[in-house]
Amino acid sequence: MPGPAPVPARETLDAFEAAKGFMPRDEGLALYAAAVEAGALGLPLLEVGSYCGRSTLLLADAARRTGTVAVTVDHHRGSEEQQPGWEYHDPEVVDPELGVMDTLPTFRRTLFRAGLEDRVIALVGRSPRAAEVWGRPLGMVFVDGGHTDEHANGDYEGWAPHIAQRGLLVIHDVFPDPADGGQAPYRIHRRALASGAFEETSVTRSLRVLRRIGHGI
Ligand code: SAH
Ligand code: MG
Repeated sequence: MPGPAPVPARETLDAFEAAKGFMPRDEGLALYAAAVEAGALGLPLLEVGSYCGRSTLLLADAARRTGTVAVTVDHHRGSEEQQPGWEYHDPEVVDPELGVMDTLPTFRRTLFRAGLEDRVIALVGRSPRAAEVWGRPLGMVFVDGGHTDEHANGDYEGWAPHIAQRGLLVIHDVFPDPADGGQAPYRIHRRALASGAFEETSVTRSLRVLRRIGHGI
């Protein structure tokens, strides 16, 4: 019987609430529970889409708790919908000298203030390129990067093969109904289930947790 769901340290939750980003609390708590389960495999937890560190805080807390590390990848230049003039743009995360988005300084402050910097390895670059040079099994892959089909498929194809047996694939922004949001994350969710390599273990609104149970991704 599984016990009560694990919860992050109080300081982590406070930092999470204060951080810029796109992860609601209920989905964040489900992400945290998945990260603690995956961390128990003794393998790194990988995130695509660090942004300002909001969800990274949860992976870092879970990594500390289970004795592993969180690796998070982002080019820190923002997704399409975060660019100037678009719906999710935040003028506070623009490099004043270059005039382009740079979320890395805010990300670093978030982790430092929460005392979790030591549990995080930040990869700054494009997700598929980082995946190409990655060479070891992962306990968890959390996909929360770009929302085009090209990006979502690239994240899935690049990282899912590294997930260990019993490891978890967590996908954010899965909206079966197009009226609720873009379909790219939903399509990779479908793809993962159709591969036969994953079973779904939890659903918290748009946050889906899948466990690797087979080969043939
Ligand atoms: N997990 C964050 C939100 C991530 S927003 C939170 O909890 O708030 C999505 C992020 O993905 C953006 O920071 C963007 O720069 C990054 N991104 C989009 N496409 C990417 C790609 N191909 N490679 C690396 N990062 C990418
Ligand atoms: Mg998201």
